[in-house]
Amino acid sequence: MADDKELRYDPATIEPKWQQRWAADPALYAAEPPNCGKPKYYVLEMLPYPSGQLHAGHVRNYSIGDALARHMWMRGYNVMHPMGWDAFGLPAENAALKNNVPPREWTLNNIAGMKRQFNRLGMGFDWATEITTCLPDYYRWNQWFFLRMFERGLAYRKKSKVNWCPECATVLANEQVIDGRCWRHEDTIVEQRDLVQWFFRITAYAQELLEGLDKLDGWPEKVRTMQRNWIGRSEGTEVDFFLEEKVEGIGNREQGIEKKRIRVFTTRVDTIFGATSVQLAPQHALVAAFTASDAALKAQVDELIEQQKKAREAGNLGAIEKHGVPTGHFAINPYNGERVPIWVANYILADYGTGAIMSVPAHDERDFEFASKFGLPIQQVIRPEDKSMAVVLPFVSEEGVLINSGEFDGLSCTQAEKRMQEVAVAQGFGEAKVTYRLKDWGVSRQRYWGTPIPMVYCLAHCEGDGPIPVPDDQLPVLLPEKIEITQQGGSPLAHVPEFLNTTCPKCGGAARRETDTMDTFVDSSWYFYRYTDAKNADAPFDSAKVKYWFPIDQYIGGVEHAILHLIYSRFWTKVMRDMGLIENDEPARRQFSQGMVIKDGHKMSKSKGNVVSPDDMIARFGADSTRAYALFAAPPDRDLDWQEDGLAGVSRFLARVWRLTTKYAAVAKTGRAESHPFRTVRGMDGAPADPLAGISLNLLRKLHQTIAKITLDFEGRWHFNTSIASIMELVNEIQAADAQLAAGDVPPPVVLELLRSVVLLLAPFAPYLVAELWEELGEEGSVLRAPWPAADAELAREDELEIPVQINGKLVTVVCVSADADVKTIEAAALADEKIQARIAGKTVVKVIVVPRKLVNLVVK
Ligand SMILES: [Zn+2]
Ligand SMILES: [Zn+2]
Repeated sequence: MADDKELRYDPATIEPKWQQRWAADPALYAAEPPNCGKPKYYVLEMLPYPSGQLHAGHVRNYSIGDALARHMWMRGYNVMHPMGWDAFGLPAENAALKNNVPPREWTLNNIAGMKRQFNRLGMGFDWATEITTCLPDYYRWNQWFFLRMFERGLAYRKKSKVNWCPECATVLANEQVIDGRCWRHEDTIVEQRDLVQWFFRITAYAQELLEGLDKLDGWPEKVRTMQRNWIGRSEGTEVDFFLEEKVEGIGNREQGIEKKRIRVFTTRVDTIFGATSVQLAPQHALVAAFTASDAALKAQVDELIEQQKKAREAGNLGAIEKHGVPTGHFAINPYNGERVPIWVANYILADYGTGAIMSVPAHDERDFEFASKFGLPIQQVIRPEDKSMAVVLPFVSEEGVLINSGEFDGLSCTQAEKRMQEVAVAQGFGEAKVTYRLKDWGVSRQRYWGTPIPMVYCLAHCEGDGPIPVPDDQLPVLLPEKIEITQQGGSPLAHVPEFLNTTCPKCGGAARRETDTMDTFVDSSWYFYRYTDAKNADAPFDSAKVKYWFPIDQYIGGVEHAILHLIYSRFWTKVMRDMGLIENDEPARRQFSQGMVIKDGHKMSKSKGNVVSPDDMIARFGADSTRAYALFAAPPDRDLDWQEDGLAGVSRFLARVWRLTTKYAAVAKTGRAESHPFRTVRGMDGAPADPLAGISLNLLRKLHQTIAKITLDFEGRWHFNTSIASIMELVNEIQAADAQLAAGDVPPPVVLELLRSVVLLLAPFAPYLVAELWEELGEEGSVLRAPWPAADAELAREDELEIPVQINGKLVTVVCVSADADVKTIEAAALADEKIQARIAGKTVVKVIVVPRKLVNLVVK
């Protein structure tokens, strides 16, 4: 027997050794060409922001993806498992301001450090396809795509109200405003400002983005629901109310079919006979016309605007205390000619629908509340289908019948809606209309550390005032490296003359560059396509390569990206498809959102002082233990509460595997030369059963049950915590047979089968240990290329079960039956048992209850 020192598991020796070997073998984790003859598998974890340090959440995220990649390699797939850096963004500028390090230098240093950490963790990434979004060889294609979007009318400029974070000193997308606050600055209230901004017309794809969700059955329902809500489709009707009198200044409203109309959007046109007012957003064009000649009204409207602004900034617009003022003007309901007052209200939003609604207090909660408060009439026009049912207003159900609605009386709500839309179309005062909550994607940022938008403005106005695209052959528009970051607001690039001043591509005269940079979500919208062809200098990628690799087979990342990144990248995919660059409609076949890593009940954060450093854990327990613990401590989709005790436990388990394998490696190796006996253990294949096979059979049965379970886990449930737990059980069982193993009761080929399989099963979770033991067992080549063990169903099958037998609920004995015995056989076995026979002699068996595989109970009198 080897001495203690030799048997000690020492990751500090094993891991650096293998890290070095792997670094010297770039083909190890490289994808093979499409003609390699293997099925492809593209597994991808979201690329990290290079903040400088991997944290425990990263370890978890990438351990999940790496386990899957390794498993698929062993299953014989051509695996692509790339990594890159989402390297533009504000923190680099903040760091520059704080530490006086240029953003580029800070970012590239961080990348180097995190790459070192990834390699130390033993992540199987193909670094040959690494991408770094802040480098010109990547961001030039952002610019190229921007130009293609511009040509297709999908990139455009407009003046708009924008969300402005005073802390970031930049515009935020709607998606980056959470409860009225900045997504990066939880304590900073987002302001509203008017700015000319660049937008991507994502709304052109709203319906397709919505419908596509139905087909994404490999995505979590939670993510799909969040996207559906974000897109926010609502079906309804646009209807024109007529203005009673001529109003000065009205004549060219965008939404009006002609003069003297107010177009409202409603999802319940069937209730229109119950409309008792029209409510306008304070910013509505008609309101401006009313207030132009009415100073008192203007003052009141200004107050409403102020209230709305405050509520928006506080993030509780939905719960705003409702205020409104009558304008003194009236509108005519087009269906019944009824005259209703026109109000202005602070809860009507200019950017939803048409900025005008009809108020139907009897059938809408909000309208009811408003009408009650301001004394507006309440007119019921829908009754329940069941006439006898008492009605409490507001009655908002659509399961109803129209009343007080003229020719539409007696129709159901659904029938009425359809009929009323037909009437509106026929008479030219409205139509069916679908609206979306989704807004166009504002991509302008007044920041330095981002992709420059490739547009110029001619000072000679040769093309009018419009932006002029930078020609393709002048890309990339390089981000200047020398720049002073002040965060004084406005675009930093406007203060760099070498950048700002250029020549007009049309007339050759003086021109200025666009100084906004792109939202960093542009970078991450298509990066996974670039991995397939990361070095391509002539195109973003080769379409043939994308065709082979896409869609991504498994995409893994945090649920916080459910609506931002995961909607933008779906949009980008559809645009690229329409450009003819790719054929897939969706980027990823399956998506997985892992849970958070918490500690002491809180999300890890510097301010809470509960951050776990992977470097520290690796130094104390090794990378394998750290990774395996991140998978063992909780199912991947749940939150994981980081416990050092648990990590130490996993480390002890790996040490047991080490000791067991090294102890019997020599025996196992001799088994390689012998024929494997386990096929004859049961007397299968007509061969006689091996009388010594009892313990062998038990261990092999446990092994093949474990293989079956883990294989199944990889195929679906991803409960890697129970996968690892079942390897622990298996190892325990083998260790419990130590005496027999030591005595040579288990034939060497079986020992080899057991130890080799334990190593293979652990390969996705503990790559260093496994590489070392693989070598220890005398195996050649990388364990990654060894076939994943196949579960032998015959061996995994339980031979016999012990079934407890009760009389009147009391345990009397246990009978042995074959594992697949039916109810009758089990019953017969129970009744034939000697102890049972003795107890029931002279009594009557009233009933026999058999729970297959579990229990027999006799009811005896
Ligand atoms: Zn901010
Ligand atoms: Zn010009």
